[in-house]
Order: sequence, then C-alpha cells, then structure tokens
Amino acid sequence: MTNFVIKCTTCGKTYPFETKLWRCECGSPLDVFIELESVKLSKNMLSKRMPTMWKYRELLPIINDANIVSLNEYITPMVKIDLLGVKAFFKLDYLFPTGSFKDRGASVSLSRIKELRIKEIVEDSSGNAGAAIAAYSSIAGVKCKVFVPWDAPEGKIIQIKSYGAEVVRVKGSRTEVNREALREARRSYYVGHLWNPFFIEGIKTLAYEAIEQTSWRGSGAVIMPVGSGGLLLVV
Ligand SMILES: [Zn+2]
Repeated sequence: MTNFVIKCTTCGKTYPFETKLWRCECGSPLDVFIELESVKLSKNMLSKRMPTMWKYRELLPIINDANIVSLNEYITPMVKIDLLGVKAFFKLDYLFPTGSFKDRGASVSLSRIKELRIKEIVEDSSGNAGAAIAAYSSIAGVKCKVFVPWDAPEGKIIQIKSYGAEVVRVKGSRTEVNREALREARRSYYVGHLWNPFFIEGIKTLAYEAIEQTSWRGSGAVIMPVGSGGLLLVV
C-alpha cells in the first residue's frame, strides 16, 4: 500500500495522515506527499484498467476502496487542434459529471471526508467547485453548505441546490465570502478547493491522464486557464 504523509509546505511540520486539519497550525497550506518507493504501479497495470481517473488509485490518498466516492469520471478526450500554427491538444474536462475539472478534486476530497467520518462540510465558490462539491457530498451522505458571492451565476446556484446543498449568498468581495465560509468551518470541515490537500491530489489526475494520453511523452508547454488558480496549484 502507498504511504502518504501530510506536511506543511512552509514550516515543514508533518501531521498524522488521519488529521482533520486542512491547513497547518502556522497558517500555511498542507500538502499530501507520496513516498514514491511505496507505490506499486506500472504502465502495464495502467493499460489494463478501466479508463477512469481512479485508475491512478495508488496515487490517490484513500486507504479503503469502500470509501471511494465516484460518479465514474471517465478519462476525458484530448482533441488535437491547430492553434495558430502550433499543434495543441485540448483536454475536454467539461465532459465530467457536473461539467468541470473540479469533479476530480471533489471525488478525491469527498472520499477522504467519508474515510475520516466527517459529516458536515463548508465550501466557498462562485460556481463550478461548489457544484462539484455539492454533487459528491450528496452521494457521500455528507451535509454540504456552499457560500457564494451575491452575483454568482443563477444557473450555478440552481445546480448546487439541485444536489441538495445549502447555498448561502454573501454580499461583498470574494474575500468576504471566504471569511464567512471560514467562520462557519470552525464547527465543520472546510473543503475550499484552493486549500484542501485532498482536493488538489484529485486535480493532479488531469496531469497523469495527459501524460499517458501522449504515450508518456508529455508536452513541451501547457496552457491553462488561471481563474482562481486551482489548476496552477498542480504544476
Ligand atoms: Zn506550517
């Protein structure tokens, strides 16, 4: 079995894997480190598995398979397109169950939340992440509260509510939304998609897939939408 370590990216403090902290006591983000020598995975093994993001199971920090919360996130296609004379591959993550790459993070983080027996979570989002967390909370049996900016798209709010999550609209800046969510999280568990170490481990499957889909050659350059930076955290 793969060994995982929870470690602060700033002060280097390590925590037991069972910790329910989502950030270090020093205030910095926590990261999941994989002890690579403990990973028993080969290209041959991967070639025989079902084409879902969970084929990289050994790299995903969930101990017990019974806790995996999944909606069958099939490997998304890579479409080759001539982009101003450059051959580029577009990874079509909008084909995921709730419509964005955030499902990768939601699947892994909600699996870990189920494993930690956490029953209530809080997220702040302006749309896609909230929808993903709400959907996976629903199938994990976890109560979910999503704080959204006052001007969040109505369609996204309807989508989040349709999964059974509670939506709290907050007036003010995005920072104010985050502050409200963190206040609520004192008696709950915060799954902020820019902070939660397990969410970020799920997003990494995008890179694993892309490398396998280019016959393990990878790419000379990667272009990605920045948004609030969720994808950049993987780099
Ligand atoms: Zn620290």
